[in-house]
Amino acid sequence: MRKLFTFNIGGNAQAGLVKDLIEKNGMPCVIRNDQLSTTLGGVPFTECYPELWILNDQDYPTAKEVLDSWLIPRNRVSDSWECPNCGETIEGQFTSCWKCGRAQKELA
Ligand SMILES: [Zn+2]
Repeated sequence: MRKLFTFNIGGNAQAGLVKDLIEKNGMPCVIRNDQLSTTLGGVPFTECYPELWILNDQDYPTAKEVLDSWLIPRNRVSDSWECPNCGETIEGQFTSCWKCGRAQKELA
């Protein structure tokens, strides 16, 4: 058994989502909360840091990949794109062509 990730305080919904995702990939895992287990209900669940543990240590690298791909998309820089006007290849972080000024997506 190995701890995969500690979520932020109140991150139970996120922990549940990732748990589902990892289990769908065939890796058994559980959400644990050490604080809760030691105080036996004295602390509301929402004030604890949920931890996601995988049951089989050998699943760790794959589970980590699943976790990472879940965590990253919101920050990932999009793919580069080709300017429809001049054909220049533009890096994903730019929304308009640096060469001719055309926007990546013309507003309808
Ligand atoms: Zn251009």
